[in-house]
Amino acid sequence: MFGALKVLKNLFRSRQTDPGFSREFPKERMGRVVYDEKKCIKCYECVRNCPAVAISVRPDKFVQVDDEKCIRCGLCVRKCPTRALKMKEK
Ligand code: SF4
Ligand code: SF4
Repeated sequence: MFGALKVLKNLFRSRQTDPGFSREFPKERMGRVVYDEKKCIKCYECVRNCPAVAISVRPDKFVQVDDEKCIRCGLCVRKCPTRALKMKEK
């Protein structure tokens, strides 16, 4: 019972954090994915595994990363068998 009351109280409580606080972490502080097409073997593991659908196949069959859609999860970097993708700091 006490637990339920606490939950209700917290639901209506004002935020204790900075009013300017944002859950969005500034992307410019998280690095970005860089692509070296000389190393790419066009396996598309990156395309298949990107949770943000930020990697697409170009008409020339190489890939491209949409920096706006990318959430910097690093999955494509881990999945790429040839290290054609890297996470570059800032
Ligand atoms: S870092 Fe994550 S979101 Fe960004 S392109 Fe790679 S898999 Fe997609
Ligand atoms: S996973 Fe690596 S090698 Fe495969 S398509 Fe993507 S960038 Fe190219």
